[in-house]
Amino acid sequence: MRGGIDLGGTKIQTAVVGDGGKVVADARRPTPTSGGPEDVAAQMAEAMRESAEGANVETGSLEGVGVGSPGDVDEKTGDVSGARNLPEWEESFPLAETLSKALGAEVRVGNDVQVAVNAEKKLGAGRPYDSFLGVFWGTGVGGGVILDGKEWLGRGAAGEIGHMVIKLGGARCTCGRRGCMEAYAGRGAMEIEARKEHDKGTKTELFKIMRKKGHVRLTSGIWERALDDGDRLAEKLIDRAVKALAAGIASAVNLLDVEAVVIGGGLGVRFGDPYVKKISKHMHKHLFVDDNPPAMHVAELGDFGGAIGASLLFGEN
Ligand SMILES: [Zn+2]
Repeated sequence: MRGGIDLGGTKIQTAVVGDGGKVVADARRPTPTSGGPEDVAAQMAEAMRESAEGANVETGSLEGVGVGSPGDVDEKTGDVSGARNLPEWEESFPLAETLSKALGAEVRVGNDVQVAVNAEKKLGAGRPYDSFLGVFWGTGVGGGVILDGKEWLGRGAAGEIGHMVIKLGGARCTCGRRGCMEAYAGRGAMEIEARKEHDKGTKTELFKIMRKKGHVRLTSGIWERALDDGDRLAEKLIDRAVKALAAGIASAVNLLDVEAVVIGGGLGVRFGDPYVKKISKHMHKHLFVDDNPPAMHVAELGDFGGAIGASLLFGEN
């Protein structure tokens, strides 16, 4: 058995994973919003221990613990820097070394999106395809490209579909640039916009639901609840996000002509099929060859894709 940790901007998901990607036990906790890498690593270790307890194993007896991390990952050393959606995580931090000490197991760190795309390719919705685009719609919007059965990494930075420019001089992105898809579709950007509207006096239940649930951020579940309640601002912002995703994904398809698009991430998995259909519908008008659109799927491994993919950094590779 192997451990897998998916380090997200909103939550830390851990799992003990058996053969064939089977989740034996899992745990999750919110990602700390303050402090620094040490605090995040401590929460990760706690959540991993909780999973291990659930599976009746010691973390030290796991074959290894894989981590899918945002930011710049040095896969050789397991150091991570520039993780923008995490607190005070600009400088390089020895994540693998820190976790390894805390858990008594070997730890490998990979890029969060790459491990999740790899999991969908080996065990999920990407299995039947030689080429597909993985789009992870969550706090940010990540992407991964599979071409001819292999992941296309470019010079190391490929797949940043969230930063496709969909509007010249458009909204400010968390990356500092303007008009990126993520500036409209990322949950982080959507929350900034919702707060702005709320402060201006626009009526919305979003923040009431957030407080009721005891959260400090607008999680995917809060957005879903607001949509179910017919919240107009939530509807408007989600609609804007869907159209932004459609424009960005269609542009990528025009360039790469992949067989399929697999949509995952916190929001993607939570909203599921109906929203993948909406994205698909809005993509249509942007597709250059519009009589042969790619197959569209929700990520099959759901919320566990990141953690399962991270566990695959051991053993099956
Ligand atoms: Zn950007």
